[in-house]
Amino acid sequence: MSKGTLYIIAAPSGAGKTSLVTELVKTTRYLTVSVSHTTRKAREGEVHGQHYNFVSVEEFQKMIGKGAFLEHAEVFGNFYGTSQAWVEEQLEQGVDVILEIDWQGGQQVRRLMPEAIGIFILPPSQKELHKRLTGRSTDDADVIAHRMAKAVSEMSHYNEFEYIIINDDFDEALFDLKAVIRSQRLSLEFQKDYRRELLSDLLK
Ligand code: GDP
Ligand code: ADP
Ligand code: 5GP
Repeated sequence: MSKGTLYIIAAPSGAGKTSLVTELVKTTRYLTVSVSHTTRKAREGEVHGQHYNFVSVEEFQKMIGKGAFLEHAEVFGNFYGTSQAWVEEQLEQGVDVILEIDWQGGQQVRRLMPEAIGIFILPPSQKELHKRLTGRSTDDADVIAHRMAKAVSEMSHYNEFEYIIINDDFDEALFDLKAVIRSQRLSLEFQKDYRRELLSDLLK
């Protein structure tokens, strides 16, 4: 069986990454999203084990010591990390995995797994980004101001990714995201294993 593909999806906070990825995995087979560990407090409506594994700073540091993370980073004063064992297990089973991580984590993963495919999601304007961060109404005003101030420096990393998707119209951005996954699955590299039998029969 062919191994799954690893996707790194990054974006400035509020660009719509989580909304897009949630819709994408609902409607795409053999695709799953990695649930990160974080020391951030859960927002209203966030479920432990579903949105994040919420852990204490001590637990997080213990996991770093054990080498449990494929990557980890400090973002907005909280720690975030991706479980290595879980990701590898999924990929081995042929399931594609999405990492919804920041650009620092993206760089770490790239060094370990250069075959990973990077997708960067951008808002249509700074004004709209601010509107979405405010509209989400899950963060305090100072948290929003901090995230907004960081957005420009985050966005400057766009050129480290293979694909750029502008999340203006949601459905169109979702369609674009699906197109990236689909084209990867149509590539020779994937099809030569996935369609091995057919390709062999056709050439008999
Ligand atoms: P169909 O190819 O249109 O019949 O639809 P499927 O739902 O069977 O497959 C959809 C896509 O998923 C195809 O492009 C396959 O290449 C891909 N696919 C099928 N099995 C696997 C798998 O085990 N792992 C991964 N990563 N992709 C798969
Ligand atoms: P991120 O995960 O990148 O921080 P979210 O997915 O939480 O972003 O989206 C931030 C806010 O913007 C949410 O309230 C979401 O409903 C809204 N949103 C996402 N995409 C769009 C879009 N295309 N048009 C308008 N609002 C959007
Ligand atoms: P939020 O707190 O809004 O859910 O996420 C804040 C930032 O942390 C986002 O840029 C998000 O991509 C990033 N992030 C979430 N999980 C991880 C992770 O496991 N590793 C890294 N490096 N960044 C993460």
